[in-house]
Amino acid sequence: MKIKSADFVISNTDVAKCPNEPLPEYAFIGRSNVGKSSLINMLTERKSLAKTSGRPGKTQLINHFKINGNWFLVDLPGYGYAKVSKKDKRTFQKYITNYFLQRSQLVCSFVLVDIRHEPQKIDLEFIQWLGENAIPFSIVFTKADKLKPKAIEKNVARYITELLEGIWEEAPHHFVTSSSKGMGRDELLTFIDGVNDAFFKNLKQ
Ligand code: GDP
Repeated sequence: MKIKSADFVISNTDVAKCPNEPLPEYAFIGRSNVGKSSLINMLTERKSLAKTSGRPGKTQLINHFKINGNWFLVDLPGYGYAKVSKKDKRTFQKYITNYFLQRSQLVCSFVLVDIRHEPQKIDLEFIQWLGENAIPFSIVFTKADKLKPKAIEKNVARYITELLEGIWEEAPHHFVTSSSKGMGRDELLTFIDGVNDAFFKNLKQ
């Protein structure tokens, strides 16, 4: 897929105020600093479509971008930043939960995970919650340039094994990416293209 246009549409904290065009939508979420903004900018070939954050935890909004006029990319706030107050955390959880449970055109959520780290509780719990609520997702490993190929393989296998020991019977779909090297870009965009085709075919039926 070529990215011909990538336009900011709206930011808010209320799923009811998200755009109501019936377009397929992909949400990007992960721990603060996981490399989400960099990945979004890499995918869209825009330098600062998503703001790379010097101040994690500050962008507490649901941000909609329209890509090529026919799908939405949604930049969700990073979770798990220690300096956000308890009250902020609860508010965050409420509107993010509402977003995932109510956004009917959400066709896939990309859960970003730093490939260097051991599986983290907060990510595993979130992935489990998505599964329990039948919300489709893929795992996107980030910062793969920081590891050698063997270590990438090993860490991906470790992560998948951890999930299979939980509620998962099948390994979730996953991508290995590096924003600084453009790695995984074609795979992600080809995947999105395929899901978009299926979405529009379904609409016509
Ligand atoms: P966000 O908080 O999840 O949006 O993360 P950012 O995109 O702002 O990235 C956090 C930090 O990780 C920044 O210092 C980035 O330069 C760095 N980073 C992001 N992606 C990559 C990557 O693919 N490779 C490397 N080496 N560093 C990355």
